Amino acid sequence: MVAVRLADGQRIACGWAINAAGTGATALAASAGISLPVVARKRCVFNFRSPARPTGCGLVIDPSGVYFRAEGQGFIAGVAPPEASDPDIVDRNDFEVEHALFDDIVWPTLAHRVPAFEALRLQGSWAGHYDVNLLDANVIVGPHPAVDNLLFANGFSGHGLQQAPGVGRALAEWIVDGGWRSIDLSALGWQRVIDGRPLPEDAVV
Ligand SMILES: Cc1cc2nc3c(=O)[nH]c(=O)nc-3n(C[C@H](O)[C@H](O)[C@H](O)COP(=O)(O)OP(=O)(O)OC[C@H]3O[C@@H](n4cnc5c(N)ncnc54)[C@H](O)[C@@H]3O)c2cc1C
Repeated sequence: MVAVRLADGQRIACGWAINAAGTGATALAASAGISLPVVARKRCVFNFRSPARPTGCGLVIDPSGVYFRAEGQGFIAGVAPPEASDPDIVDRNDFEVEHALFDDIVWPTLAHRVPAFEALRLQGSWAGHYDVNLLDANVIVGPHPAVDNLLFANGFSGHGLQQAPGVGRALAEWIVDGGWRSIDLSALGWQRVIDGRPLPEDAVV
């Protein structure tokens, strides 16, 4: 790879490039002839108030996948939709909240786990897009063997904020030093994708 081309046609020569395009990463990788197994999936977050304030609990994940945690004066909660109703996002501007998820799955599960949540009051909600790595729900980080000066940091699958500092540092060291230095991320590299060897992340909400 010798250059990147911007949407307006401008060409910028470069020694290195990093694909950090989130849910846009698959299309960007395809422009370099690389197939990235990452799709965009909608995830909704619900914000509620409750007279019940369970103490001593941080992030709680029910075995069903429904999660909640305290947030300000209230709580946030959510769940990944059942696989059959979890399509890949086609319209990248689709941020419509799936309210049925709350009514049919999240609320009943919360009320079962914390009975006082039966009386909760929904305050707000929003939707975002996860960049889901279909192989194993973990990031794909580092160079692809076919284009060794194009680095990847894609497919965070909903846990990218936690991993961003480590991934950023490791990629910076790769560019400066030519390899993993203070953090060895080789287990999360392309080779497992090419070999079809998943490194599954089970704790995705
Ligand atoms: C509802 C929700 C809740 C989440 N909660 C958590 C959490 O609790 N903890 C956690 O760790 N993570 C969480 N995440 C995941 C976290 O937000 C992501 O993993 C993280 O933002 C990914 O960062 P990124 O820089 O890879 O991609 P992004 O933040 O998506 O940034 C990608 C950027 O690339 C740009 N771009 C796209 N295509 C192109 C292109 N062709 N050319 C140039 N630029 C392009 C985009 O406009 C965007 O600015 C959550 C995500 C969602 C949706």
